[in-house]
Amino acid sequence: MDIVAHGALGAALFSRSGVLGLMCRRYRIPAERCKGFDWTIAVAFFAGIIPDLFSFGFYAVQRVVNSNYVFGPPGLKTIPSYVFQSYTITHSMLTALAGVLICAILFKSVWPAMLAWPLHILCDIPLHSHAYFPTPFLYPFSDWVVDGFPLVKKLWVAAGYWMIIILICAFVHLHHVVIKWKKRFWAKKSG
Ligand SMILES: [Zn+2]
Repeated sequence: MDIVAHGALGAALFSRSGVLGLMCRRYRIPAERCKGFDWTIAVAFFAGIIPDLFSFGFYAVQRVVNSNYVFGPPGLKTIPSYVFQSYTITHSMLTALAGVLICAILFKSVWPAMLAWPLHILCDIPLHSHAYFPTPFLYPFSDWVVDGFPLVKKLWVAAGYWMIIILICAFVHLHHVVIKWKKRFWAKKSG
C-alpha cells in the first residue's frame, strides 16, 4: 500500500468519527461536541504513516535536499543503512504496541487512534516479498519474515484498496447522517 492509503485506512477505521467510533459508544464524540474538527482523524492518519515516514520518509527528504529524488522505489544498493535500521524498528509489532501503550497512558481518550500503526504493519506483511523490504514484524524476537506478494506495483491493486477505503468512508458518513436524522426525528416527536 502507498503511504497515503495507510494513513487514510487508519483514519477511516480508528478515528472517533470512523468505524471504531461507530462501534464503540464510549469512544464516539458526544453529539453536543460533534461540530468541531475531529482531531483523532489527524492522529490516526499520522499513526498510520509512522512506519514509512520514519524510514523511507527521511530518505525521501534527503534525496529532495540533494536534488536527486527520482519517483518510485529506489534500488536496494542505493539505500543507506540507516533506512534499513529505522525500517526494522518502525515495522516491529513490539515498537508499534509500545507506541500504543505509551499513548494509552498519556492520552487516555484518544489512544485507539494509534492502532493505525500496528494495522500498517499487518497490511505490509502479505504485501512485501523477500526481494524488497519484507516486514520484520517479529523484531527483536526473531528475524523471520513472510515472503509476501508485492502486488502494490500493480495499478488495479492500488485502485482496489483505494476503493475499499472510499467505501468505508462513505459507509461511516452515511451512518452518521442516519444517526442525525433519527435524533432530529425523535426530538421533533417529543417536542
Ligand atoms: Zn510500511
